[in-house]
Amino acid sequence: MVAKTPILIVEDERQIGDLVSLNLQREGYETRLVESGEAALKYLAAHDVSLVVLDLMLPGIDGKEVCRQLKWNQQTRHIPIIMLTAKGEESDIVSGLEMGADDYMVKPFSAKVLIARIRNALRRDEARPVLSEQNSNTRIGSIDIDNDRHEVRVDDKPINVTASEFKILTFLASRPGFVRTREQIIEATHGSRVVMSNRTVDVHITSLRRKLGEAGDLIETIRGVGYRMEECSRMAAT
Ligand code: CA
Repeated sequence: MVAKTPILIVEDERQIGDLVSLNLQREGYETRLVESGEAALKYLAAHDVSLVVLDLMLPGIDGKEVCRQLKWNQQTRHIPIIMLTAKGEESDIVSGLEMGADDYMVKPFSAKVLIARIRNALRRDEARPVLSEQNSNTRIGSIDIDNDRHEVRVDDKPINVTASEFKILTFLASRPGFVRTREQIIEATHGSRVVMSNRTVDVHITSLRRKLGEAGDLIETIRGVGYRMEECSRMAAT
């Protein structure tokens, strides 16, 4: 499904920008290419866009700052952001995700994969209001989460999870396909005032996977970054 408004590409390397733009246009998307954070913010202040492909390393206002400003602004916070990072910049990926980016691609990347990610992000964006209204039951593969009763079932068999495990599972399941950093998991499940080590998240996840059995494989480890619930999924609402 093709978006009604353009995809904004923010990339100072002309070659990459043109390549992304061309490939998206070939898929029927309208695009707009800008080469700096300043130009991106200026464009976004005046135009509606359906998604932003955002390079992190930009001269002047960098990608992280653009991301932060977009996600702090009520008007633009809903716009999905896919960041582009250079290889070996895991700390950038983590901080970008923490600023609210939705997904990331490491350079060099295949245009095909990027387009698939963009499609997913747009689809998720459209599904979002429905998900937040109907959050009583979530189904991911063979996992059923009953948010009212705080119950988890795998293949209809109840699983005994702790309160923390339940919160982590619900958080990851709320947006399948999105990578969540350990810090985001801690904040979402325990609030920003709680001091908790990243290691604690790993311990909860390990225990959760063990309890889920085979379905535990649906929680994917993203090395150096965090965790993601696989997107094999449909959200079932009752
Ligand atoms: Ca760059």
